[in-house]
Amino acid sequence: MEQNLRIPGPTPLPPSALQASARQMIDHRGPEFARMQQEIIAGLKPLFRTENDIILLTASGTGGLEAAIVNLFSPGEQVLAISIGSFGERFAKIAQAYQLDVVPVRFPWGETADPTVVDQVLQEHPQAKGVLVTHNETSTGLTNNLAALSKVISKYKVLFLVDSISGVGAIEMRVDDWDIDVMVTGSQKAWMAPPGVAMVTVSPQAWAATRLSRLPRFYFDFAHYEEWMAKGQTPWTPATSVYYALQNGIKLIESEGLEKVLIRHQRVADYTRQEARRLGLQLFGKPGTGFYSNTVAAISVPETLDGDAIRKRLREEYNIVLGGGLGKLKGKIVRIGHMGWVEESHIAPVFSALQEVLARAQV
Ligand SMILES: *Cc1c(COP(=O)(O)O)cnc(C)c1O
Repeated sequence: MEQNLRIPGPTPLPPSALQASARQMIDHRGPEFARMQQEIIAGLKPLFRTENDIILLTASGTGGLEAAIVNLFSPGEQVLAISIGSFGERFAKIAQAYQLDVVPVRFPWGETADPTVVDQVLQEHPQAKGVLVTHNETSTGLTNNLAALSKVISKYKVLFLVDSISGVGAIEMRVDDWDIDVMVTGSQKAWMAPPGVAMVTVSPQAWAATRLSRLPRFYFDFAHYEEWMAKGQTPWTPATSVYYALQNGIKLIESEGLEKVLIRHQRVADYTRQEARRLGLQLFGKPGTGFYSNTVAAISVPETLDGDAIRKRLREEYNIVLGGGLGKLKGKIVRIGHMGWVEESHIAPVFSALQEVLARAQV
């Protein structure tokens, strides 16, 4: 029986993606690669709802976040790091590692970012140069209300950086309408491709900031990408096989239609939440001004049980792999990934197995 991989990335690949990534290598400085890269970027723009430039990096999503920091800021500049969980903390840590003056704007894990609070903190920090926000917090299964946050953030002269690594492609994203300067996603989340390519949008304001930024950088220097991508190439050797799959993933989304893809994710997420409740389980957290995530469900484990022990049983006895709780949520929640190539039929067996495991555990 094939493993049912239900972690929130890497996500299972459809057969066409497996075939695509098995194709022979090509010259990454030749015309076939140039055409492929051009097609990927042209395909991504409407899916991101942007006219901004898109840079493809051979890196995981975190590389995209680091690229955003090193290209836009200078040492000592102030940024607000809005955090509702583990990945919000990671974005802040990257900025700290590069010696930015990071003002943490933390909301309790299990809540979403309150735009009123963000407005207040921005008012109190007139020298802030940027705001870092996680769109979909994969560690808590909650999605920030980016439209509402954008309304507040766009009142200020700050760069707006968004980690939508596990959001865009499955959850509504409007880079241009929401005035997002840099938005980052990763091939292994909603894109039905293996890990290895980060996609990064760069607004005209972000480009202007790169000219002033004095942080050290080399591999991720956007100036190199600007020069080489204009020639249909990448500065360094790209993850060619991941590009093949990504191109295929974009085609799959195009042929289904973005709206239908978003609706399917909503439907599968609703189904997952409903199944959790049917087993008497609670979803972790309260969405507040945001939403329960349509790409990952964080489910609280009854206090007498250990989430990691449940996951071990599912893995060993049913070949079903769930995500665990990160950091302080270790053992307290289990997470079910439902993004990319996903239907209700992929989720149903998880709950049949979970029901059996819970029934035995509670004896
Ligand atoms: C998966 C994920 C990341 C990390 O991406 P990597 O590709 O593992 O570097 C960062 N942020 C969010 C919200 C994620 O879901």
